[in-house]
Amino acid sequence: MTRVLLASRNKKKLAELRRILAASSIDGVEIVGLDDVPAFPDAPETGATFEANALAKARDAVRETGLPTVADDSGIAIDALNGMPGVLSARWSGTHGNDQANLDLVLAQLTDVPDERRGGAFVCALALVHPDGRELVLRSEWRGRITREPSGANGFGYDPIFVPEGHAETSAELAPEAKDGISHRGQALRELLPHLASLSD
Ligand code: IMP
Repeated sequence: MTRVLLASRNKKKLAELRRILAASSIDGVEIVGLDDVPAFPDAPETGATFEANALAKARDAVRETGLPTVADDSGIAIDALNGMPGVLSARWSGTHGNDQANLDLVLAQLTDVPDERRGGAFVCALALVHPDGRELVLRSEWRGRITREPSGANGFGYDPIFVPEGHAETSAELAPEAKDGISHRGQALRELLPHLASLSD
């Protein structure tokens, strides 16, 4: 069994990858989380791109643990804000991880933006770094539009103000499995599967 570290403390992300792995035909790969390995300090996310942040997180974890590592970085890129909040999504309002304040600020900023220019996308970069130096970074986008009011209680972050393309409800109104099936992270994780499978050879 090859152990692969998912360099995340987010239980939902771990569960998501385990669900997607279980639904695939990959054997011989066991996903472990940061809670399953000796603790090491989190480096601040200072990259200019999602890809740079995902790679930096994965490289740190490989150096600390010696395990092949998957790391992700994600956020929302809003057209009318020239692609921001982008890599600053988690701390857009000034406080890291304050989902409500972040979403309120985005809605306030977009007050005068008409419906036809409220497009945006969730973006996910996923890095796989191997102790032997092999590296891979994937990027997926999930397009949609930004509502005028929050709606829905599922998900996290900007889900209550994001209506995916082809849908009438926000991603916070989708069932978790339905969101996994189409989201930026779900797409990137599924694209990663064949690369994980090759680790168990
Ligand atoms: P991180 O990749 O865990 O650092 O997340 C970055 C930030 O992007 C989160 O705090 C959320 O605000 C936002 N974000 C990333 N993915 C999603 C999503 O699927 N739904 C809602 N917000 C998201």
